[in-house]
Amino acid sequence: MAPTVTDATGQPGANGSAGASGTAAASGTTGTAASAGSSAQAGADAQAGTSRQAGATTRTVTELADGRELIYYDRGTPPTARAVADLRPLDAVAPSSEVRQDPMTGAWVTVAAHRQARTYHPPADECPLCPSREGRLSEIPAGDYQVAVFENRFPSLAGEPGTHPVPPALDDPLHSRGPGIGRCEVVCFTADHDASFADLDEDHARLVLDAWTDRTAELSALPGVRQVYCFENRGTEIGVTLAHPHGQVYALPFVPPRTAKMIDRAARHRAATGRNLFDDLVAAERASVGSGPVASASADSPAGNSPSDYPEDSRVVLAGEYWTAFVPFAARWPYEVHLFPNRRVPDFTGLNEDERAEFPRIYLDLLRRFDRLFGDGDQQVRAPYIAAWHQAPAGHEDELALHLELFTVRRTADKLKYLAGTESGMEAFMNDVAPEFAARRLREVGQAPAAASNPETTPDTTPETTADTTAEEAQR
Ligand SMILES: [Zn+2]
Repeated sequence: MAPTVTDATGQPGANGSAGASGTAAASGTTGTAASAGSSAQAGADAQAGTSRQAGATTRTVTELADGRELIYYDRGTPPTARAVADLRPLDAVAPSSEVRQDPMTGAWVTVAAHRQARTYHPPADECPLCPSREGRLSEIPAGDYQVAVFENRFPSLAGEPGTHPVPPALDDPLHSRGPGIGRCEVVCFTADHDASFADLDEDHARLVLDAWTDRTAELSALPGVRQVYCFENRGTEIGVTLAHPHGQVYALPFVPPRTAKMIDRAARHRAATGRNLFDDLVAAERASVGSGPVASASADSPAGNSPSDYPEDSRVVLAGEYWTAFVPFAARWPYEVHLFPNRRVPDFTGLNEDERAEFPRIYLDLLRRFDRLFGDGDQQVRAPYIAAWHQAPAGHEDELALHLELFTVRRTADKLKYLAGTESGMEAFMNDVAPEFAARRLREVGQAPAAASNPETTPDTTPETTADTTAEEAQR
């Protein structure tokens, strides 16, 4: 089932649906999901998820001046015209990158030297992700938008997926390389430059979920794409170069190292137990809260079914009806939360309507807890974070599970966790914060704001030394 889209330029959209006219809508997003069909189960579930209760999502495909694709996502009918031409005199960029495989570890590395020229910390009045206005044209030609997705002008991966063998042929095992074929997209979460994802309302967060689902369906259907990776970097501490709230989607031509390890671990678990690793993982964490309270998803109204009733050592932060968030047993980062749908699905397209409906409350609650971790009374200190969505790569839909890995590099209000000798040198993480303590803190900050104690006074911190120095000293 191909989505019906509006087309501002009259050119074919990425899916070749030229000539569509008028605003069409309705489940354009989930409609694509079914056609992508990452698995039979996903297709069936996507079908089930096509009815949106709070108004359908409209997808409008347009083209920027240099030929890149720009897609608007709107709840219901767009309030203003989306078919606005990009008037900038942009030359088409011919990005070139290559992927090389590390012969020692098997990890693929993307080399994209052309990206050195990309936009770097522009002033707010030159933000390329704000809507265009008179005299100041941005990447978004429209005067307003809800959610917008466009191809990155300085992508790490580009070109037509599937035009080269991917991954590269292993005829020279020491020097496996190939063109960096893939696609890099920017997802603008809102037109409000000063907002953060955590500031969005639930309907708007749901719209972002619809956009992620649509991009996953469309990009995973491209030949040569092995995995679709949706993520958000938030905060200058993470290295974000544009302050405007946005995330990215990478259509990767290879399976990245962390996913490759999960494939291996899931296979071992299956061989040893006959069961799925992720099913067992989620069930074990949920078991720690028993059949107890379903977490209130509203952080501001914890009355009644508070996660404070959870056992002290539980790592569960939020146990929703359809989603579970917990600090992993071997967390790498000071504050790290994994969020799984209780029912295993390979990717966004596999979520059903119940799971989609609950997601915004759970996810917004988690992000707001992160922002409360390091606050002092009324003063909110935004936590820098990485939100990494793991989706099953092609061929592994039966075992891998859609899940979010959300973590902050902040250890205390004024200290960051740096990846130094052990982490960067050996990929061996040293974590100063016990996962059970982190979970307790994350449950506490979901309560009344007054409950947020100053983490500087808590015993997990080591104010005088950095994390890995401490760890290395302890090993001597
Ligand atoms: Zn902006």
